[in-house]
Amino acid sequence: MIILQTNLNLSAHKTIIIALLGFVLLTGFTVPILYSQYETQKQIRAQKELYAQQLQEQKRQEAVINQQIEDAARAIQDEAERESYLKGNTAYADKDYLQAIEFYKKITSKNADYQTAQDQIKKSTTEMHPHYLAKAGVISKQGNYQEAIKLLTSISAYYPDDAQVKSDLLKYQQALEAEKSLVAYNGLIEHIFFHPLLAYPSLTFDGDVDSNGFNQYFVTVSEFEKILNQIYANNYILINENALYEEKVEDGKTVLVPKELKLPSNKKPLILSVDDVNYPDYKSTNGTISKLILDSDGSVATYSVSPRGEEVISHDNEIIPIIDAFVAEHPDFSFQGAKGILALTGYYGILGYNTNKLDSPSYPEERQTALGIIERLKETGWTFASHGYSHLDARAESYQSLEKDTLQWKKEVGSLIGPTNIYVYPFGSSVLPGNPKFQFLLDQGFNILYSVGPTPYLKASTDYVMMDRRHIDGIALYNQEAILKNLFDTKSVLDPVRPPLKAGS
Ligand SMILES: [Zn+2]
Repeated sequence: MIILQTNLNLSAHKTIIIALLGFVLLTGFTVPILYSQYETQKQIRAQKELYAQQLQEQKRQEAVINQQIEDAARAIQDEAERESYLKGNTAYADKDYLQAIEFYKKITSKNADYQTAQDQIKKSTTEMHPHYLAKAGVISKQGNYQEAIKLLTSISAYYPDDAQVKSDLLKYQQALEAEKSLVAYNGLIEHIFFHPLLAYPSLTFDGDVDSNGFNQYFVTVSEFEKILNQIYANNYILINENALYEEKVEDGKTVLVPKELKLPSNKKPLILSVDDVNYPDYKSTNGTISKLILDSDGSVATYSVSPRGEEVISHDNEIIPIIDAFVAEHPDFSFQGAKGILALTGYYGILGYNTNKLDSPSYPEERQTALGIIERLKETGWTFASHGYSHLDARAESYQSLEKDTLQWKKEVGSLIGPTNIYVYPFGSSVLPGNPKFQFLLDQGFNILYSVGPTPYLKASTDYVMMDRRHIDGIALYNQEAILKNLFDTKSVLDPVRPPLKAGS
């Protein structure tokens, strides 16, 4: 500055001063501006950083919330799937396999139950095949072909190439078609009954004290087979008792409603029953079989001991397997798969099993075996009736003893065969409407009551059906040629091994 003062002129000084002033002024303005700009930039950066942090935080929180939403949704889903799994298990336990599979399918691969559910689907698919085929068979035997077709169609997707499913479906479709050509039947209904067959007449007619009783009330295998062939040749067809009446509940009360019976045009209906299907020693030592069994195919067969002491398994020495084979060979002998009614007492057990010895160590096994046979019989068209527990004469016995007897039957036999509304009077000794014992039987659910008579008899109201059955036995074969003519010819049937009948038993 001093040098400038010395060497420069005034105007130069002025210029310098102005310049200096300008500089001072300029910097006085610009520095704060620049500084302020710097500050602003800093703030912006800080703001940006803050925003970035906030954004990050927001994203983190969003992620947490999303996770929570996802977890909650998964939990809801898991719970729903768990519920489906449990419902699947219930349906599976009820053998409602199709429903079970639908439930198991809802379990996704993320679920802990997934693998078990997949295994259950496989199991259900395997088990439902025989189950639904059998079920369709039972339904079809009740004449409900449409329902049987529906059932098999519903499972056919699971077994697209299964021959059995295809052939059964075809069978029911054909039956449904054939139903259209049935005609109403309004004539008499024949009902005949037998006792177990005499498989070994040489044991029966050995002259002992029992011979005459068996001669009166039983028929031999050869007689039964001849009767069967003649009945079939005379155009009879086995019908089920429920082809005539059905139980309905009207105003809270069970009533019997007549059904229109429609049969193939040339056929006449026949109900078959077998009484006292038990095989205590006094019978088997006199020529009956010893018990019914299931063979390796699951079909009903018989076990007996021949007069020479050999153990025999057979399909042709008792009514049930004989009828089974006959119907298989002649399907037009059975309307909708009907076979016969098995009238059971309880005091000698049933079907050859000691279901009456409740305290015996072998009771559970006897019961279990009997149950297996009952199941098979039901599947193959046989039905059951009560024949009282100890074969009491309902007319002669007191109300109290009939009551006790009936309840014991329900406990020991009814618990095995399941519900039945049929009561077959032992000795054909019936009680009639108005009698308290009759009312008792009705109150116990027996509204179809069978007695014995020489010709067809049927009386029905909404409360009950009373029907007579013809006894086909030695007495009938010897003495009832004329009245049995429409069914078969007694003379040609009578087994020459029979001795003459003696009066009395
Ligand atoms: Zn009897």
